[in-house]
Amino acid sequence: MGMGGIRNKKRRENVRRRKFDEQNGLCHICARRMSLDVDHNHASYATFDHVIALKQGGKNCIANLRLAHRKCNSARGHVAITEYVPPAKVRRFIAELDKQENT
Ligand SMILES: [Zn+2]
Repeated sequence: MGMGGIRNKKRRENVRRRKFDEQNGLCHICARRMSLDVDHNHASYATFDHVIALKQGGKNCIANLRLAHRKCNSARGHVAITEYVPPAKVRRFIAELDKQENT
């Protein structure tokens, strides 16, 4: 997804940190821990997600942004958060995160 109108990189990273703290580091889609200390392409990286997808009439503003795992974000796409059911590959990813938390 896009950057929610945050074009300036430094500002974008500030917002990412702030949202990360607000969400206690948890993905807004699966509620598992995300990471900011991994490569941007990593499945666990905290990416910006529009709570209400732009295609569903959501606004391109900071208030409509939450952080989600890259994996969860790309799997959800434009599906409404209330309608979203994680596909098998994401369920495996989530199970792996749960295993890491419990070890
Ligand atoms: Zn997630």
